[in-house]
Amino acid sequence: MDETQFKHGNEEIALRPTAAVIDLDAARSNTMAVRRKVGEGVKIMAVVKANAYGHGLVPMAKAFLDYGVDELGVAFLEEGILLRKAGIRAPILVLGGIIGNQIVHFLDYDLQLTASSVFKLQQIDDVAAQTGRRASVHLKIDTGMERIGVHWYSASSLFETALRAKHCVIRGVFSHLASSDSSDPSFTETQLARFSEALDFFPRHGLPMPVRHIANSAAILQHPTSIFEMVRPGLILYGVCPSMRLAHALALRPALSLRTRIVYFKVVRAGASVSYDRTWTADRDTRVVTLPVGYGDGYPRGISEKAQVLIHGKRYPVVGRITMDATMVNLGEDSAHNGDEVVLLGAQGDDCISVEELADWLGTIPYEILTMINTRVPRSYVPLPAETRDQRPEIESLNGG
Ligand SMILES: *Cc1c(COP(=O)(O)O)cnc(C)c1O
Repeated sequence: MDETQFKHGNEEIALRPTAAVIDLDAARSNTMAVRRKVGEGVKIMAVVKANAYGHGLVPMAKAFLDYGVDELGVAFLEEGILLRKAGIRAPILVLGGIIGNQIVHFLDYDLQLTASSVFKLQQIDDVAAQTGRRASVHLKIDTGMERIGVHWYSASSLFETALRAKHCVIRGVFSHLASSDSSDPSFTETQLARFSEALDFFPRHGLPMPVRHIANSAAILQHPTSIFEMVRPGLILYGVCPSMRLAHALALRPALSLRTRIVYFKVVRAGASVSYDRTWTADRDTRVVTLPVGYGDGYPRGISEKAQVLIHGKRYPVVGRITMDATMVNLGEDSAHNGDEVVLLGAQGDDCISVEELADWLGTIPYEILTMINTRVPRSYVPLPAETRDQRPEIESLNGG
């Protein structure tokens, strides 16, 4: 991490010393790692839903496209519209379910739709016909997630409807895995078998096989047979592992760190309590600093009793309740000054607080930690080092030009 970048960064960081700092070189390295893992002939759809897992929707979408991904995936229509309004021209699939009155907006913004039922596919075809356009559609098969999609045992009805949908171009057929990160592969294998069973429709009718995609991050790491013509990684592109068990499956570099600065230093006298509900009392005179960050930024209150932060490369415990806008840290006998950098998530010196570790404190998964970091926290991007930028043509050639 380039310290000067954070120190002299943008105006927003001067106004708010708390920032999510995103290392674009790490994002690039993760994209290259996924590219090597899946091979050159497989398309990569970078999943950038939920503000790119907290990293910033538009900057990350542009970055991943620069680093050689082929397409983008988002959960909701409005996320796709934001990408188009930012001038992004790459194919964008909205992975989530749709409601009829949204279809016209998909066509207006050239966004690919997920057809998750026969009725929805017909609706898409009708709206496309009425507006004189063609809709780009991916057909969603439910192989065991029970979220959206036509069950694998009914998939032929969706495929037959698709053959008649003259105003739709079928760009792909996909499904989603419910437990690809598990150490037990059996349900993933069941889902893959169901997916194949549904897709048999195409060769059986003498039709070309559409683009198939089912692999998310964990499947890319541990289920090579789930890698078809396209993959849909999210979490690993940001350098975070879906499960500790898979930590060594691919060399990943976490892209995001959450940093702030000390705004207050004091000595808490023995016997005095700190913060709401008085959950922590100093047993001796103790140096305590206050950080201008709290659960109102997505630094969760639920880790009040467990969290540690890095100051001068050393770990210190959070004391008392994390409040909406402030967090107190016990320095013990050590000292620190107003303005000194504090790392809540990420590396400082030789130590690092990983997203996985913070998720563990809260009893949740890394995905939730990243997406909790909210809009009050400015995002700051550390650009690629100059020598890496010079390698761009090589990245492009990896991706077939
Ligand atoms: C979120 C999501 C992904 C990406 O999942 P990761 O585990 O982050 O790789 C892929 N496909 C669908 C349908 C999703 O909702």
